[in-house]
Amino acid sequence: MEISNKISFKNQVVIITGGGGGLGKQYALNFAERGAKVVVNDLGGSLQGKGNSTKSADVVVNKIRSRGGIAVANYDNIVTNPEGILRTAIDNFGTVHILINNAGILKDASFKKMTEKQFRDVLDVHLNGSYKLTRACWSFFRNQKYGRVIMTASPAGLYGNFGQANYSAAKLGMVGLGETLAKEGIKYNIKVNIIAPLAKSRMTETIMPPDILKKLSPEKICPLVLTLASNSCPSSGNIYEVAAGLYAQIRWERSHGTYLKPDSSLTPEAILFKLPEVIDFTNEKPQHPTQLSNYNDIWSKTSILSS
Ligand code: NAD
Repeated sequence: MEISNKISFKNQVVIITGGGGGLGKQYALNFAERGAKVVVNDLGGSLQGKGNSTKSADVVVNKIRSRGGIAVANYDNIVTNPEGILRTAIDNFGTVHILINNAGILKDASFKKMTEKQFRDVLDVHLNGSYKLTRACWSFFRNQKYGRVIMTASPAGLYGNFGQANYSAAKLGMVGLGETLAKEGIKYNIKVNIIAPLAKSRMTETIMPPDILKKLSPEKICPLVLTLASNSCPSSGNIYEVAAGLYAQIRWERSHGTYLKPDSSLTPEAILFKLPEVIDFTNEKPQHPTQLSNYNDIWSKTSILSS
């Protein structure tokens, strides 16, 4: 297949949260290289969200400027001052076209040991922070009839991961948020997609073996993010898994299931007996629901049973 024209972000303004390190830093450099005006937001705290520093955002901004690119730093916390981040974009560049919700922290603990504060703090940064900043940008996207949003989820959110109840809940929350915003945004040419990346960063370098880490350079995540953030992005509301050179879409799958009459025979024991059918994905063509109207076939089948 022929590779289409080069994707450019000239005259486009992108906000990258957590743009001072890891994945966000690579995004910032890549967007700037393709002409974007970049707001590099980073609180500059520890992996657990402690402390703050202007250094990480400044280093990225200086690097972009030294290469002839356009960037400005912002050090606000996405949870407590999302408006400050947007204001940096507006004051310096007049608007925002692209939002990369990327900032994140970890407060891992087994569910038994996880405190409510650890749970809330992680939800606050990932889910509430992404919500707040996206909400702040939304009216700009709507008014200019153009917006691109990336939600950064995680395989831990899609599949669960030991010790990450807070993180998994936040990340799958971001999937639902992104899927709904894609539906609400489409008539304003606002496209929202979700990525579940795996890459070498301070989040992974102490928990993954060195030979695997070698394959996980964060640069490999950038091409997909830039495609989804581009004017030519054909996708909205989709989830992509991206790691080590794999670029794949994830979707929901519903088994064919079973239909039971809503009478006195509909008991827990009947469900237990039918469970093999409920969980059988080989039985008939499975379905891949993407919206509530995908329930129409269920309404028609269950109404036959009830009649
Ligand atoms: P990272 O720790 O290197 O980067 C996260 C950045 O976010 C940091 O620079 C941090 O200072 C910043 N940040 C944290 N809280 C902030 C706040 N409240 N306001 C502003 N900035 C804040 O980690 P990373 O691996 O580059 O992670 C980037 C994103 O990708 C995160 O959302 C993470 O959950 C997600 N993710 C990463 C992986 C992976 O394998 N690295 C896997 C799945 C998901």
